Amino acid sequence: MRIAVAGFTHETNTFAPEPTRLADFGARGGGGIPAGAAALERVEPASSFRGFCAAAAAAGHELVPVLHAFAPPGGTIERKAFDAICDRIVDGVTRARPLDAVFVELHGAMVADGVPDADAEVLRRVRSAVGPIPVVAALDSHANVGPGLVAAADALAAYRTYPHVDMARTGARVHALLEPLLRGGAPWERAHLDIPFLMPLCRQSTLAQPCDSLYAALEVLERETAGATLSFVTGFPLADVPQCRPSLFGYGPDEPRLRKALAELRARVLAQEPAFAAGIPGVDEAVALALREPRGPVVLADVQDNAGGGASSDTVWAIEALLRAGATDALVGLLFDPEAAAAAHAAGVGATLELALGGKRMPGHRPLHGRFVVEALRTERVLLRGPMMAGTHMDLGPMALLRVGGVRIVVCSRRAQCLDREYFRAFGLEPERHRLIVVKSTNHYRADFTPVAARIIEFAAPGACAMDPSQLAFRRLAPGTRTRPGHPSSAFKEPT
Ligand SMILES: [Zn+2]
Repeated sequence: MRIAVAGFTHETNTFAPEPTRLADFGARGGGGIPAGAAALERVEPASSFRGFCAAAAAAGHELVPVLHAFAPPGGTIERKAFDAICDRIVDGVTRARPLDAVFVELHGAMVADGVPDADAEVLRRVRSAVGPIPVVAALDSHANVGPGLVAAADALAAYRTYPHVDMARTGARVHALLEPLLRGGAPWERAHLDIPFLMPLCRQSTLAQPCDSLYAALEVLERETAGATLSFVTGFPLADVPQCRPSLFGYGPDEPRLRKALAELRARVLAQEPAFAAGIPGVDEAVALALREPRGPVVLADVQDNAGGGASSDTVWAIEALLRAGATDALVGLLFDPEAAAAAHAAGVGATLELALGGKRMPGHRPLHGRFVVEALRTERVLLRGPMMAGTHMDLGPMALLRVGGVRIVVCSRRAQCLDREYFRAFGLEPERHRLIVVKSTNHYRADFTPVAARIIEFAAPGACAMDPSQLAFRRLAPGTRTRPGHPSSAFKEPT
């Protein structure tokens, strides 16, 4: 059978100040949008795209790669960028006909100007080009899945881990859902249920409760519901769109049984609502806690300045707090500041620079003025080795290791989340040998840093990746959505 494969993935933070433009799309590791055979080579092996392709190739299918467009999480996608990428995908699948199926890697929380459910729209446009053949997709577990997306796909499956270490397995799961359809089987029955409260991203980790047990329950229910594939998406709460909320969905041969399994899982999620409340300290309190720890490294997670959630990744609150507290032997990464990186490269290793570091991209913030020692410079890509992205070569542009007092800062020229220890090792720093490590990441850092951390402390300094969505000015949420677990202002009543 002949299957066209494509990817169009963006996690859209509609509260982020900057729009996402066509030039922001490319390969995850850097470089332009890979198309044709290059998509199979340049998309990271850990992705659902590659997982689907490997499973389909092993089953003897012929793959027709179209393109794979990724942009780092950020603001609403400009309409012309969204239309341009859709047009290229539609053109690609049209030219690839005759086809037996289409697979698309989506994120599931994509929003374009005037297209609130952009993932569903991608599938609708693909379907109008290819006609009545199966169109299937893989999703991130941060997907905001509404009825439009469920209706637009013949099968969907989402990651079950956060940090996402099962992306390729998810692609293979989508292939397993597609295979019976290719053999002429009846279309899958489907079911979809909403969860009525937004979950702070820092409480969505599957390395902690309540998600660890909830996903374990999902797998038990799936085994008990023969032939079903269930998904639980914890959602991306920073999107002012009607489908913004966690949800459950499933595909299988028997709709009443699917619905029963999902209802049981939903009851378990609702019973855990209080456990999803964030409640994390401010930056000075977190630094004081870290300094009282007898041994290191203590990992301090700057959960609200996460590039992976659309934040600027350039705030300097934590650096200032470390300096105020007189911290020694602290590492900070990754600070996005191309201007500072360029100045460091111009000055050279060993130079001392007067800089206005970071603090330039978030309204109301300001840079840290000071004298910084340029300890090391780098332009080569960083080969990641952590569990999430092993094998990916990340191009973060010119990078620099700067030191101010007892604080060393890894500065980069392309925004990326600090989810891999290699970002420090790239400068000869072994994170486990240092006292404090500040990571700008909400949760993905846990996959690679937990094994070496004496303790992990999350803190809430201002940043665009808000952990308490009830602070945000939502206008388009579905009625009854609680903007934080147990939010008292909610008038929502469970249907009886
Ligand atoms: Zn995600």
